Amino acid sequence: MPIAEMERRQVVVIGAGPSGAIAAALLKRQGHDVLVVERQLFPRFSIGESLLSHCLDFVEEAGMLDAVNAAGFQMKNGAAFAWGDRCSHFDFGDTFSNGKPTTFQVERASFDKLLADQAALQGVEIRYQEEIIAVDFDAAKPTLRARRADGSLYSVEADFVLDASGYGRVLPRFLDLEAPSSFPVRHAVFTHIEDRIDDPRFDRLKILITTHPVHRDVWFWLIPFSNGRCSLGVVGAVEKIKDKPADFDACLRAFIAEAPELERLLHAAVWDTPARTIEGYSANVKSLHGKGFALLGNAAEFLDPVFSSGVTIAMRSASMAAAVLKRQLQGETVDWESEFAVPLKRGVDTFRAYVEGWYDGSFQDVIFHPGSSPEIRRMISSILAGYAWDEGNPFVSEPKRRLRMIAQICASSAP
Ligand code: FAD
Repeated sequence: MPIAEMERRQVVVIGAGPSGAIAAALLKRQGHDVLVVERQLFPRFSIGESLLSHCLDFVEEAGMLDAVNAAGFQMKNGAAFAWGDRCSHFDFGDTFSNGKPTTFQVERASFDKLLADQAALQGVEIRYQEEIIAVDFDAAKPTLRARRADGSLYSVEADFVLDASGYGRVLPRFLDLEAPSSFPVRHAVFTHIEDRIDDPRFDRLKILITTHPVHRDVWFWLIPFSNGRCSLGVVGAVEKIKDKPADFDACLRAFIAEAPELERLLHAAVWDTPARTIEGYSANVKSLHGKGFALLGNAAEFLDPVFSSGVTIAMRSASMAAAVLKRQLQGETVDWESEFAVPLKRGVDTFRAYVEGWYDGSFQDVIFHPGSSPEIRRMISSILAGYAWDEGNPFVSEPKRRLRMIAQICASSAP
């Protein structure tokens, strides 16, 4: 099919999710010309509903905090963990990093649309239902080929491309950048329900992470929304899921039946939405940048959902990339590796250490230990609130060593 049109833009962002909307708004605020190409029509469903405090720092930087605060999302002030009769909670108002004390739990369809609309209000052009279907990075400037909903094609030449395509992973696929994740393939089965939780001890201001009573590497999330509904899901490796019913609703309910506290909490729930599944979501890339492009959010790497770090990493990458790109567009020489990739990965690697510790049980030992010191809990709380780049926090600067040390102390003083 002949290419009908060719246009030239300064920056093209692929995808209008959290990383794309934040990056586009930040660049537009610096006076740059930005086009966002998004293949879906918003609002659209996305998983990833529990936010960390740190992501609001980027929402604020992009001039969107008032709109998010006014949207009526469920406030979140921390994270609660349960394993049988053990429970432990962390308060984002009491952290080492003294960051934002609260954040939100959001239905992503509304949240992502709000961010994209805010970017558009600031002058960003967003084209919905247009998909990037091919790329050419061999010429002096990158060219992207896009397909509209009616099937017509056009090309865009850009000074720079930010890939914020999430699981679409447009540039990793086209430029052969994909690399295996260090995490095994896990499945998540999830739904939204009207939860009707009537236990007065239940705290709707926190995400509840419940460890499976027998399999410590299987866990559930319960994320309350402001409308009496919640997101509910289970995560487990394939060998833990294979004996469960193939039907997703039956599979999720079978897992919940194995976790008596969770089942009790949800005894009156109305299951009104078909469950879904996503598997093999952990992903990595060989490089976060190259000539004429950088990768943001899930288009680069996705670790694991257990600490709800995805949107925060996505927005942090958007903010860091926008700052480097702004200087490059002004004619400065920049080094994407040392100014973007290395510092971004530092925080990602902090989360990685705790995700590994979650699945090998050491971080769970620390979290559920009844005697851990308030100072240590404040350092851990900082990371759970998203401040995984705060090098002043010893649990950030030396995550593996600190976790090993504290896990050994907890194991030797286990009740
Ligand atoms: P996305 O939000 O995926 O946005 C990418 C956009 O790009 C999409 O709108 C897509 O339509 C568009 N796109 C794709 N391909 C193309 C193309 N070819 N052309 C044009 N547009 C395209 N994170 C949290 O912070 N909290 C949580 O509680 C949480 N829970 C999770 C639970 C599970 C089971 C999983 C798997 C993930 C979870 N996450 C969570 C992670 C979170 O979903 C992602 O990290 C986050 O959505 C990444 O944002 P993004 O902007 O990079 O990409």
